[in-house]
Amino acid sequence: MRRKPLTGIGGVIHFQIEHQCPQCGAPATLEETERLFSCPFCRVKSYLLAPDHFRYLLPAQSPDDPKLVYFPYWRFKGMLFSSLAAGVRTKFIDVSRQAVRSTHIPISVGFRSQALKLRFVTPETGGRFISATTTLDEMVAGLKSQFCGTLPKPILHHAHVGESTSLLYAPFFLRDRLYDAILDTPVRSPSGDQIDLNAFETENGHGPLLFVTTLCPNCGWDLEGAADSLVLHCKNCVSAWYPAGRTLKPLKFGVIQERGEDILYLPFWRIRSDITGIDLATYADLVKIANLPRVVRSADKSEPFRFWVPAFKVRPNVFLRLAENMTLGRRLSGLKTALPLPPYHSVTLPVTEALEGLKTILAAFYTPRHRVREVVPDIEVKARSFTLVYVPFREGHHEYIQTGHQFAITKNTLALSGNL
Ligand SMILES: [Zn+2]
Ligand SMILES: [Zn+2]
Repeated sequence: MRRKPLTGIGGVIHFQIEHQCPQCGAPATLEETERLFSCPFCRVKSYLLAPDHFRYLLPAQSPDDPKLVYFPYWRFKGMLFSSLAAGVRTKFIDVSRQAVRSTHIPISVGFRSQALKLRFVTPETGGRFISATTTLDEMVAGLKSQFCGTLPKPILHHAHVGESTSLLYAPFFLRDRLYDAILDTPVRSPSGDQIDLNAFETENGHGPLLFVTTLCPNCGWDLEGAADSLVLHCKNCVSAWYPAGRTLKPLKFGVIQERGEDILYLPFWRIRSDITGIDLATYADLVKIANLPRVVRSADKSEPFRFWVPAFKVRPNVFLRLAENMTLGRRLSGLKTALPLPPYHSVTLPVTEALEGLKTILAAFYTPRHRVREVVPDIEVKARSFTLVYVPFREGHHEYIQTGHQFAITKNTLALSGNL
């Protein structure tokens, strides 16, 4: 069977993961973004959850070598936003970095990881695993200074949004010197001296990988969703569920219904929040703060301000533009508590990640621009409640056009977003 290519667009790495059906043991290959696993043999569906991070093993050439030792690397794949006085700079990055500091191993896993089939590391996985000693926060702080170091100062706000983070374990072994067990070649140590493997702590836990049943927790019906979806629907009791920790939790949702054969629904997180540092409680406040060319109606003074953030991964500049277009537009009519009729796009960006972007979105539309420098650093945005809303877009030749606000996203952009 022909596999999809392993690399995506612009250096984005797309892993494939080999594993076994938890029910019948049949071998299977998953895309990195897949969460809902349907076994082609026993037909059992399960939903994959890692309460902290997914952990992957990079394969050694001789996987049964008792001398193998696995070193951890953090992997970060997501968007960086830097708010400057002149506007927001965006960057998509996909990198790995040592999760244990050592001058004897390479600083990152490198691009060779794109050509390898990975496996999940579970508590049952045998081998000697070095414990991660640097935190994910430390890694992200390092990425910020690396990727934003050349931006004009001051940087008013930083955000990392929509990232998937995981631990990659790369195999090495010690012969006369340290060898990379993927390539079976010696590692060039910058320090020149011999590594002392006993100086590193090893771990036994690895963290669990859970396969959760996809029966509706409310009515027992089969939940539905695309393979990469973070939200599952129950058509029977009209409910929606998303992963939180070790279980699926109910979600508030709705759809702005639109007629027509050519409608595609894209998911957005609609978020109400408490904002301090500026007066932004209502839609009327927004008209002023964003300097919108609109007449303030009396209804605008009682309509609460809400952020709208894409609930799907997409290139960072497009992400920001969609969020601005939806947030600055007047309220769309026709919102109902219902599930969308297909076709609709999967939710691939969790609400926790959408929240990370709120201050960036605000900094992007704040006026007057000359005051951004003094105002933005002191703004605090705290989310109060959120709803998943499926928003209608009408299919055009090369793009989908939002039926109410008339802004567009190209088909090409949307098609490529599955790799992010
Ligand atoms: Zn099976
Ligand atoms: Zn149900």
